[in-house]
Order: sequence, then structure tokens, then C-alpha cells
Amino acid sequence: MIFDAIAFDADDTLWDNEYLYTQAKARFAGMFSDCCSQEACLQRLEEIESHNVRYYGYGIKSFILSMIEAALELSGGQAPAEVITSILATARQMLSADVLLIDGVGETLEALAQRCPLMLITKGDPSEQRPKILHSGLSGYFRWVEVVHEKTPEVYRAILERCGLRPERFLMVGNSLRSDILPVLAIGARAVYIPYADTWSHELVDEDPVGEYTTLENLRLLPGYVEKLMQDS
Ligand SMILES: [Mg+2]
Repeated sequence: MIFDAIAFDADDTLWDNEYLYTQAKARFAGMFSDCCSQEACLQRLEEIESHNVRYYGYGIKSFILSMIEAALELSGGQAPAEVITSILATARQMLSADVLLIDGVGETLEALAQRCPLMLITKGDPSEQRPKILHSGLSGYFRWVEVVHEKTPEVYRAILERCGLRPERFLMVGNSLRSDILPVLAIGARAVYIPYADTWSHELVDEDPVGEYTTLENLRLLPGYVEKLMQDS
């Protein structure tokens, strides 16, 4: 095997996640439709959300704090209690949503786990990410599970060092160029980008990064891709 480990991002790589945020944002914009266009409302929420990541990190509870902040701002400090109550109800719905696996996840992990140790690397709030990992039913496929605050080259380097893995024999698979691809290429490892239809704008990058990464249309193509790499090496 040419890899000592193949690592996967979780949200929107193994299971659907962004749709929860998209639905919540549409509901939020609906609450302010009489004073603000949907576009302007969502743009302001997005700005507040991206700004607050540095304070609250990623995840639903962070997102909800930003929605409350946006609601107060858009209402000129006059947001009624029903609006805040509705936002909090949205949070509970999001936190208790079922984990919906992306097509082909089980077969893909099953095939690859027979060839190579697998790792899960997800960023976010551990109190949100750990239950999703448990409820996904996928835990058994992973030798290592890492929940990190941010996905930077330093964070990836530290994980590899701790697990005794070499970058040149490490492959990361994910849907975010910003989090799963660029920092992995920066430490000299390989990456496979599997685009997701509805990726949060924060995870996009302005320019397509130049580097040695491969784009696959879906997860089902991954075992064949790894097989081909092994034949070619
Ligand atoms: Mg992701």
C-alpha cells in the first residue's frame, strides 16, 4: 500500500450537513422579510458568522449565537422574544437531526479499510461532532478519530506526528478546498477533493489552488482511484 493512512473529512464528505444551515438561514431570512431583502439579510448573517468563528469556533451553537446577533442588528435592537425563541428552537432541531450518510459511504469505507488504516478528521465543537460520529455507525472503520478546532497545516502536522505517520504516505479526502486540501498539500501530503453541491462559502477559496490534488465526482470513485495509484507506483 502506498499510504500509511487515508483520512476523511466528515461534514459534507461522509454525511450531509450544510443543508441544515441552508434551511435555518432561509427560515431566518423569512423572519425579516418585511424589513430586509433575503439577499441582504443572508449576507449580513454570513459576515457576522464568519467574523465570529474566531471567538466561537465552528458548529451549530456558534451559528446560533451569530443568528441572534444578526437578529438584534437587523431589528435595530428590537427583535421580539418570539424571534429569539424561534432561533433557539431551530438550534435544537439542528442538534437533534438524524445523520444522513452520503451515497456510497459504507461501501467505500468497507473497501478501503481492508487495504489501509483510516482516519476521521473533522473540525468543530466536540460536543456536536462526537455524537454525529457515534450515530453515523461509521466509527468502527476508523483507527483514529480527530476533532479539531481548525484545519491548518500545523494541526495536520501535529496529528501526523502524534500518530507516527509520514506526510508523503498520507492521503486526505474532503469537500473543502480551504480545510481539507490546501493545508494538506502544504505539509507535503496528498489530497482528494470531492466537491459537495452546497458547500458553505467560508470553505471556498477565491482561486483554484495549484497543486497536486485530484478531484473526484463522488466517493464511490475513491477505491478505484487508490487502486490505480498503487498500480502506477
Ligand atoms: Mg466538510
